[in-house]
Amino acid sequence: MHYPINEIFQTIQGEGYYTGTPSIFIRLQGCPVHCHWCDTKYTWICSDKDNVSIKEVINKNKANKKWSLINVKDILKILKKWTAKHVVISGGEPCLYNLSHITRTLETEGYRCQIETSGIQNIICSFNTWITLSPKQNIKPLNQSIIRSNEIKFPIFKKEDLLYVNNILLNIKDKKKRIISLQPVSQNQEALNICISACIKNNWKLSVQLHKYLNVQ
Ligand code: SF4
Repeated sequence: MHYPINEIFQTIQGEGYYTGTPSIFIRLQGCPVHCHWCDTKYTWICSDKDNVSIKEVINKNKANKKWSLINVKDILKILKKWTAKHVVISGGEPCLYNLSHITRTLETEGYRCQIETSGIQNIICSFNTWITLSPKQNIKPLNQSIIRSNEIKFPIFKKEDLLYVNNILLNIKDKKKRIISLQPVSQNQEALNICISACIKNNWKLSVQLHKYLNVQ
């Protein structure tokens, strides 16, 4: 099975539960959500004219719209160059694609998988994949994605965003233990202060996009 890959690289996970974990990021092309503060706008459109060779994608040294259809066997070969055993499948919106084959294969090869999704599509992946749901206010997440999530990480820009957080959390009826975190958008100081107070008040976690403070990819 092939996946449209925009970037594949090893770094430190900077967000959510696995913050600080050496990770390989597989960034898939395509996202219909179009958040205005998105920092990966180059992944939104999956245009044929940007379909390039695997080599061009692997050797990218700066972000752009180019992507390549890569099969799981070749993805594995690329992964084996690196030491990390944690693989983050991100985007764009990775759940536009059926991720069952890639997550199962990677697990068989000794990797742990994590998917970062906005929750607008059903999540199709292995049972053990860690799901980080990051709902965006412009599109409501599907119930399936909420139920399947292991953590819910909310981007916060202003105080009113907390109403959206409460609205989603109050509607979760199952008893599954999930990690809830707030993430200030774009290192904005006011957003950070709002997140810190709300996290302390509600016993939620703070996610600060560590990679941006460390200035790594
Ligand atoms: S869902 Fe994610 S990738 Fe898509 S526009 Fe929003 S922030 Fe960007």
